[in-house]
Amino acid sequence: MSRQITSVVGGSTVTGGDAHADLNPSDLSDVVLEYGGVDASAAKAALEAAAAAFPLWSRTTPWERSTVLDKAGSEVLARADELGDLLAREEGKTLPEAKGEVVRAGQILKYFAGAALQPHGHLLDSVRPGVEVSVTREPIGVVSVITPWNFPIAIPAWKIAPALAYGNSVVFKPAELVPGSAWELVDILNRAGLPAGALNLVLGRGSVVGPVLTTDPLVNGVTFTGSVGTGRGILDADAPLGRKVQLELGGKNPLVIVDDADLATAVEVLVQGGFGSTGQRCTASSFAVVTDAIHDRLVAAVQERLSRWTVGDARAAGIEMGPVVDPSQLAQDLRYLDVARSEGGEVHGGEVLELGTAGHYLSPALVLGTKSSDTINREEVFGPVVSVIRVADYDEALATANASTMNLSAGVVTTDLATATHFRRSSKAGMVMVNLPTAGVDFHVPFGGRGDSSHGPREQGFAAIDFFTTSKTAYTAPGSPRN
Ligand code: ADP
Repeated sequence: MSRQITSVVGGSTVTGGDAHADLNPSDLSDVVLEYGGVDASAAKAALEAAAAAFPLWSRTTPWERSTVLDKAGSEVLARADELGDLLAREEGKTLPEAKGEVVRAGQILKYFAGAALQPHGHLLDSVRPGVEVSVTREPIGVVSVITPWNFPIAIPAWKIAPALAYGNSVVFKPAELVPGSAWELVDILNRAGLPAGALNLVLGRGSVVGPVLTTDPLVNGVTFTGSVGTGRGILDADAPLGRKVQLELGGKNPLVIVDDADLATAVEVLVQGGFGSTGQRCTASSFAVVTDAIHDRLVAAVQERLSRWTVGDARAAGIEMGPVVDPSQLAQDLRYLDVARSEGGEVHGGEVLELGTAGHYLSPALVLGTKSSDTINREEVFGPVVSVIRVADYDEALATANASTMNLSAGVVTTDLATATHFRRSSKAGMVMVNLPTAGVDFHVPFGGRGDSSHGPREQGFAAIDFFTTSKTAYTAPGSPRN
């Protein structure tokens, strides 16, 4: 029998629920673990537990909160090999990518252990004589954390760690495909010293538990990363309720490569940004905008690099790309390739591969000869697919890059400082990369996009406090006048 895990509500396990198997996308005969998907009443119980824990947790000292996060961060880092193996096994990114993600989660926990101790307020004189004004930050209350499958531990960490650091209590609902990494993170944090109910884990279908976690009156804030459709639905449902909502809905991220680019840099930036983590990153370089004089050389060099690209079991040595996460994502990737063909694109690669084990393997796909208006350049594929648009010059490249409406990340490859500076200043994206892949961000600085990509305050680093706290301005009258 496979390992069993459960939801955790108020420090207790919740048994029952409809049976779910967590399958290894590299080998579908491997059941990673099993769990019961809970119903709406368990989600409600989790919110009640979080609400009950809030008065206690929000009044702990910054040092107590810092100590819990620091201890949890140390355990995550110490167990990076084991947790990385679990993550690669349930999600399908390669072992080095998976271990790197676990290390990142540990770093995030450590960062917010430090952030909990930082000063956050102001004390000033009023414009009225003798009156003092203080501006302080307070936690918002019960926060629902809803996460996708593509970063099973890092995204939960970058939402849960600041929520807890600033004194909120949390109900965490991970994606159905990756419950194992989520369970480990919650277990580590709870054992690090959280009071019961400060962090609750709800394993269940988004369509069943999601509406409770986003619309129940006990919820004070919702932080969500996932698809545009689900995110917009949450926003619409929450708008009349007036509570804080933070959404990260993905990106359609351009990589501009201009004539003066260093060819080797351009190839690595495109290949790593486009096909790393099987292209299943909201910051993936999903379309390349390439100026005329370098286009053919670049395409030939990328194709040569992809001919040596190794696809296989995520946990096998020397593999550069693991499988697609599940059958519906694979079907979506193939559907977008078909649409690209029907709109005149020339698809190279993008073939379903039969390897030694039954997994969802797809070779990397390069789609040439596409136009900015093509569907493949407008919608997020979320797979190992990069389309290429050939343009005359930098000005056309910039306009083409900025035609994206999901402006999360954008990159430029150039050896010219003026071009780099102009692109950095003119890009519509929330994050800009110069001679670096569009994917791959730091944890101590803001993360987020513009346009249809994000909603609400930025995530991560010093920006996270904006969503996870609310400001209070207090005026204190002078006491009795003294002689
Ligand atoms: P994807 O699976 O493509 O990342 P989804 O938006 O479907 O994107 O899923 C992201 C997260 O949102 C998952 O944890 C999923 O279970 C959850 N979810 C799905 N439907 C809802 C809903 N109606 N309300 C809240 N969360 C939901």
